[in-house]
Amino acid sequence: MKYGVNEKGYYGKFGGAYIPEMLYPNVEELRTRYLEIINDPGFKEEFALLLRDYVGRPTPLYEANRLSEKYGAQIFLKREDLCHTGAHKINNTIGQILLAKRLGKQKIIAETGAGQHGVATATVCALMGMECTVYMGKVDMERQRPNVERMRILGTKVVPAVSGSMTLKDATNEALRHWINHPTDTHYIIGSVVGPHPYPDMVTRFQAIISEEMKAQLTSKTGNPFPDYVFACVGGGSNAAGAFYHFLDEEHVTLVGVEAAGHGVDSGESAATTALGKPGVLHGSKTLLMQTDDGQVVEPYSISAGLDYPGIGPIHAHLFDTGRVKFVSITDDEAMKAGVELSRMEGIIPAIESAHAIAALSQFQFDKDDVVVVNLSGRGDKDLETYIRWGKY
Ligand SMILES: *Cc1c(COP(=O)(O)O)cnc(C)c1O
Repeated sequence: MKYGVNEKGYYGKFGGAYIPEMLYPNVEELRTRYLEIINDPGFKEEFALLLRDYVGRPTPLYEANRLSEKYGAQIFLKREDLCHTGAHKINNTIGQILLAKRLGKQKIIAETGAGQHGVATATVCALMGMECTVYMGKVDMERQRPNVERMRILGTKVVPAVSGSMTLKDATNEALRHWINHPTDTHYIIGSVVGPHPYPDMVTRFQAIISEEMKAQLTSKTGNPFPDYVFACVGGGSNAAGAFYHFLDEEHVTLVGVEAAGHGVDSGESAATTALGKPGVLHGSKTLLMQTDDGQVVEPYSISAGLDYPGIGPIHAHLFDTGRVKFVSITDDEAMKAGVELSRMEGIIPAIESAHAIAALSQFQFDKDDVVVVNLSGRGDKDLETYIRWGKY
């Protein structure tokens, strides 16, 4: 596969495993075993069964008629918002917990920023009866109370990270420290296509079910497995990696990654990594990240918690570098308007992350026969407070 990872864990110039020596045994165990485990027929069968009966897959591919009319193309929405727990993240956590069991692990740790990955992890740990600890910045715990309580109801221990800015990066440090001290019985579930190799490739493979289903669904709806365009929002990049995966080698399919411009790309308050980022090392891999001239990570900003990340997964850094994926960015205001527009036109209130992907449609000139798929990564229930505060509906 032209855009896939190589044996050393690189996508072109990006990727790798930049980790402290004390983490080497944990990451090495994963690296040497993940492909054999996830390609095993027994694993595949159990994964497929849970995706069907627990997550509710395949998620529908819905032809959005009123949206199609407005943008002058044939627009389909891939309904990841209908997954159990409300977003695509559960595809990955199911895959990783099945892998953890096969590695003989009894305990799970994770870190979370806004809490959505924490909830997806707590959910699968309850499902499998595994002990779960989620690290979360103290500041984030105060901002995201409902998700903290969801995790607790599900039986997960939520541990506040009280160092630094008390946000995601501090929670990541705490989780890594825990993993270093518990290498044999614990698996660390990372929530996007980020982190040291093999995480980006492993998470991409678990999310690739999205584009696998799209191909079959497009074939039955249009007679052709290939669309002309696929749009997906990019935080770390897992829903986009899954939505693009089976189209990467089909260069006639235009792939569009949509980043959060926050208050504007040049406002100093954004998360538009490809527009602003430079190569560097973040969370164990070489990628593009927003940084100062002396290499300090710049605090990102977006109205949507899931896109508020200073880097992107190395696969996306490579897809940007090679020009295979076109990256655009959308401001808070544009995303909120698109979220309300989708609600009014199709009766679907999207997650604000997903609303960024919808908003990007207006930056393109389509032919009326163009088949366009927008990956609707999640539902808007979790964002109701943000819609209310924004107020313009
Ligand atoms: C977490 C999240 C995202 C961003 O994560 P990716 O890894 O970039 O997919 C996007 N949409 C929703 C609904 C999310 O919960």
